[in-house]
Amino acid sequence: MDEDRHAHRRLIGKVVIATHNPGKLIEMRGLMEPYGVELVSAGDLGLPEPEETGLTFEENARIKARAACEATGLPAFADDSGLCVEALGGAPGLFTARWAGPDRDWGHAMARVEEELRKVDALDSAQRRAYFISALCVAWPDGHVEDFEGVVSGEMIWPPRGDSGHGYDPMFLPDGSSRTFGEMTGEEKHAMPPLGRGGSHRARAFIKLAEACFGARFD
Ligand code: IMP
Repeated sequence: MDEDRHAHRRLIGKVVIATHNPGKLIEMRGLMEPYGVELVSAGDLGLPEPEETGLTFEENARIKARAACEATGLPAFADDSGLCVEALGGAPGLFTARWAGPDRDWGHAMARVEEELRKVDALDSAQRRAYFISALCVAWPDGHVEDFEGVVSGEMIWPPRGDSGHGYDPMFLPDGSSRTFGEMTGEEKHAMPPLGRGGSHRARAFIKLAEACFGARFD
């Protein structure tokens, strides 16, 4: 028996969602609600947003989950995610949210991706490969943490299409789909079981978390 499996804890009762991002909060609530936990957000509790000083998505997720857990004494759940464009050496990467500027202007952020792709002459779809990554972390009051990661690959298209979802969704065409994330409903984008085996990076990471922390089985 793998010793690591014993490290998994069941999430029950009140759980803090350590995000101040309204788009992500809606997505995470939708993913976690079926499991009967009582969800409170870091924003609603007025918790300060910790500085994301990590050098990886996983480190930043841990910083956010730990800060919310320490402030409340409750188990806390955080996501750190981003968009990595291959032709841009993985940018915007850890700076994905910052490319939207202080006003969180996603039209501006998408235009910047397009501008950078043009600068390196990445005009064909093969040169516009990208992936979204989600690092999820659950932090328990005794200091125990668990990490889960999900990735979805696709390409950056221009002009953006669709107005659902958030962030860079209208510019991202996931592999195997003729519609961008911005043209999908939340259910279609995440394709959680039984609809699919996880369609978004966050759903893919969440399936791992649900199996580990909610005892869910999706086979
Ligand atoms: P974080 O809040 O530091 O994790 O910032 C991640 C940023 O990545 C978000 O603000 C979004 O702009 C972008 N992002 C993450 N996940 C998605 C997604 O599912 N669709 C579109 N953009 C996303």
